[in-house]
This record gives sequence, structure tokens and C-alpha cells, in this order.
Amino acid sequence: MSTVTSMKCACDTCLCIVTLEDAIEKNNKYYCCEACANGHINAQGCGHKGCTCN
Ligand SMILES: [Zn+2]
Ligand SMILES: [Zn+2]
Repeated sequence: MSTVTSMKCACDTCLCIVTLEDAIEKNNKYYCCEACANGHINAQGCGHKGCTCN
């Protein structure tokens, strides 16, 4: 079993690619990190280089 399922973070402004294994699931969507999953509630970015989501 070496199936890797990757997708873009469900956050619109986020460019990060996440794998099913690493993603944070919320409401059946997959996010790269807590900040995205929480809708950037504190205007906090995901902190990934080159990504300006917040
Ligand atoms: Zn991001
Ligand atoms: Zn994200």
C-alpha cells in the first residue's frame, strides 16, 4: 500500500498541498494546519513558506 492522496488545502487563500495522512480534517474538508482549519480566526497564517493565507 503506497497510495498517497494529496490535495490542496481546503482554505481558499492557501496554496499548500496536504496529504490525507497529514491533513487536519474539519467538516469533511482537509486543511494543512490548525490555522486554516479554524478559518484563520486570529489572522494567523499557516506559516508555510511562500504561502500568504491568513
Ligand atoms: Zn497556507
Ligand atoms: Zn492551509
